[in-house]
Amino acid sequence: MSNTVSQALLKQLISFDTTSYKSNLDLIYFVQQQFEQHGIRVRVKLNDQGNKACLFASVGPQDVAGVLLSGHSDVVPVDGQDWHSPPFVALEKDNKIYGRGTADMKGFIACAMAVMLSVEQAQLKRPLHLCISYDEEIGCIGVRDILPQLAEYLVTPLLCIVGEPTLMQMALGHKGKSVFKALCHGQEGHSALAPHFSSAIHAANALMNAIINMQQEITQQHPQDADYDIPYTTLHIGKIHGGQALNIVPNECIVDYEIRHIAQDSSHHIQQKIAASLEHSTFKKFIHIEEVNNYSGLATAKNTPIIHSVKKLLPESTTIGKISFGTEGGLFFDALDCPVLVCGPASIEVAHKPNEYIELSQLQQCDVFLEKLVQFLKSA
Ligand SMILES: [Zn+2]
Repeated sequence: MSNTVSQALLKQLISFDTTSYKSNLDLIYFVQQQFEQHGIRVRVKLNDQGNKACLFASVGPQDVAGVLLSGHSDVVPVDGQDWHSPPFVALEKDNKIYGRGTADMKGFIACAMAVMLSVEQAQLKRPLHLCISYDEEIGCIGVRDILPQLAEYLVTPLLCIVGEPTLMQMALGHKGKSVFKALCHGQEGHSALAPHFSSAIHAANALMNAIINMQQEITQQHPQDADYDIPYTTLHIGKIHGGQALNIVPNECIVDYEIRHIAQDSSHHIQQKIAASLEHSTFKKFIHIEEVNNYSGLATAKNTPIIHSVKKLLPESTTIGKISFGTEGGLFFDALDCPVLVCGPASIEVAHKPNEYIELSQLQQCDVFLEKLVQFLKSA
């Protein structure tokens, strides 16, 4: 069986090792070249170091609102994972394509490129745009470079579609996330004299108890959103590092934790309450907390004309829900003030794992959806 355009493009995209800590420029220049050969407008926005870039491409008229497709070019590392085939060589087998990024999320980018390359631009009444970012996997960093420019590049779109893997189901919401690093200090001393010194690990323990108690308060008293499997805001301590040897009272302990909040909660407010609960603790002066990253949650309204229109372009069995993982959608939502839909081929279940794959049928479903979207842009 011969390759469809999206299958062939996906295989090429997989061949670029765009692990977040590496450059994505070879991939970006490949996409640029493909588009420019077809007379499609492309803008490439390099980062300050000049080793990574976002790409923006557009087909159709530029003075009216259209639809913005969005995907990230970076992938998570394969280091230490047990792959059965080389992760950056696409392997087609059993109606699947294997390779790092097939599901998350080069499959969607391949489909988006295929539909833009196939469209007769003059027939579009409204434009179709594509934004490709970098460094999504390390905290939605790269897209922030191009978001301020997007308002110049396009008229506020009718809709932004983030093609993260949802098995082509419609997701209108996800939780926001804030990441914190707490530096807990102490005084070193001989452990035989431990009561004479303030232990950094004991300070960290006070903070961790405050976080665990806050989770209990949230679970019992805060608003809930039943569209999520875990319907409330979650707190999580992911990493602690402290102490040199058992016979030394530790002078430093670092605690990394996160808050993943539903739209009805504010991570800022929750963090303030954690800090306030330490107010009378003897350890308060030894704990310094820094917010190192955050991204917004997504909460697109369900009952809007554009969401109804797009639902009709998908199979009747398509569900509308919310997803557990974060995306760039919240940032697009904040920057563009337009509805954001997360909908893309493949399953998040296979993402970030060895032997990541996409079913060919998922690529095909995405192709059909985007072709119908183009029909919509020809008539709307
Ligand atoms: Zn992703």
